Amino acid sequence: MTSILNQPIDIERPLREWLDSPRRMLVGGEWVNARSGKTFASEDPGTTEALAHVPAADAADVDDAVQAATLGAKKWQSFAPAQRANVLWKAGELIHQHSEELAQLESLDTGKGISAARAIDVPFTAENFKYLAGWATKLSGETFGISLSDADWHAYTLREPAGVAAGIIPWNYPLAQASFKIAPALAAGCSIILKPAEQTPLSALRLGELLMEAGVPAGAINIVTGFGDSAGAAIARHAGINKISFTGSTEVGKLILKAAAESNLKRVTLELGGKSPTIIFADADIDAAIPVAAEAIFGNSGQICNAGSRLYVERPVLERVLQGVKQYAAALRIGYGLDPRTQVGPLMSKAQLERVRGYVQGGIGDGASVYHGGFVDFDVPGYYFTPTILTNTAPTMAVVREEIFGPVLVAEAFDDPDEIEPIANNTTYGLAATIFTSNLARAHRLAGRLKAGAVWINCFGVFDPNLPFGGYKQSGIGREMARLGVEAFTEVKSVTIKL
Ligand code: ADP
Repeated sequence: MTSILNQPIDIERPLREWLDSPRRMLVGGEWVNARSGKTFASEDPGTTEALAHVPAADAADVDDAVQAATLGAKKWQSFAPAQRANVLWKAGELIHQHSEELAQLESLDTGKGISAARAIDVPFTAENFKYLAGWATKLSGETFGISLSDADWHAYTLREPAGVAAGIIPWNYPLAQASFKIAPALAAGCSIILKPAEQTPLSALRLGELLMEAGVPAGAINIVTGFGDSAGAAIARHAGINKISFTGSTEVGKLILKAAAESNLKRVTLELGGKSPTIIFADADIDAAIPVAAEAIFGNSGQICNAGSRLYVERPVLERVLQGVKQYAAALRIGYGLDPRTQVGPLMSKAQLERVRGYVQGGIGDGASVYHGGFVDFDVPGYYFTPTILTNTAPTMAVVREEIFGPVLVAEAFDDPDEIEPIANNTTYGLAATIFTSNLARAHRLAGRLKAGAVWINCFGVFDPNLPFGGYKQSGIGREMARLGVEAFTEVKSVTIKL
């Protein structure tokens, strides 16, 4: 039995009271129960205890939310762009002001270390709202010349809000993911219905309160809590929704696209899974590369869509890199999320723990070797899994091909620098890739050849609201963040005038 770090900070009294009072969802400016009266528990994955109960929405509640959002869109569009910008900026300020409470809530609901929630999740969410506040006043069309000689012409495009938008998000970064959907939708002048993951509905509900306080009008923001196959499926099929932005598994992304096709062809953007390579050349600054490559897979307990889950190292430095990553992994502090020393929290759920265990077991069965980690029993009931490194893998193994979504790294050597491009691209995914080298020509050349939506060179996981993010191949459709992300919530209309 291995012990975890378990000296949690005391949670703030208002947050405790908030958790202990009945939680409702946000529809049309009101906090409501599901029409069915059904609820479900959101669990603390570090203890397996229920944190709070939230409404279990189904199709009837989604109908209500769409009605509210239809009115909400009209109201929101009656705000001048500068007024919308002010509201979004205020939302960012309120998130900053409630940083500690939000970090505690996020840590409780996901199990992630409070230190990471304070340093990454909450500030990024606040800054994303502020960044998108800027776009509310900057979306514009273009003017065009027309090549017909029989008259004088004036032609231009209008960039209009898509209408009623929906966001369906996963559980790994609930608050930040909520901001990736809500902030660009509102900046573009859409109303939005957000469905957080059933595992982590709480921070989205608190965010809904802050958005109302910031001045988002009733119906422009709706937060519907429920399961994927009921509330989620009803959203994906609803004919009153004009645009859906989904983040989650590739499997469910395909269901969303199918539901959109079979209903009203709502616009779809998808940010899906990955199996991203980290490539270390022998000429790299190896001491700098090791901790970054390790964080790329062990950060957030490996539950990151762009995790660097496949490590490829040029053979002369393989042993040094493997030893270094192993030492880094061994020193990581596994613990309860609310313990500020925790670097690796529990996995999200029992299902996730079983999935990760199943992959590691399967990899061993296929002939892979456990270089570090593997199966460790912990002295608490939470869903803890130790950082793990597998070697002696083959490209055909499930652990190399499929997204595990846990702290499990597969590591291999490569010999010829020219062979790494096909190896790295040998995946159905294409979300991200990381390259370590001191040869900039090589770095740029390879960056151009990798089929991935984000390439990080001598760094990993650098996210900025100003940088588009999304996937090639089965990692998704479209881009989030940046100008492209907000434009994804608009339609373009061309207007032609014969003068
Ligand atoms: P993960 O594997 O990370 O849990 P999922 O893709 O299963 O990711 O879930 C991501 C989000 O998609 C969650 O909010 C979940 O409720 C939702 N979801 C799951 N199944 C469906 C579905 N059939 N239709 C719409 N949404 C769904």
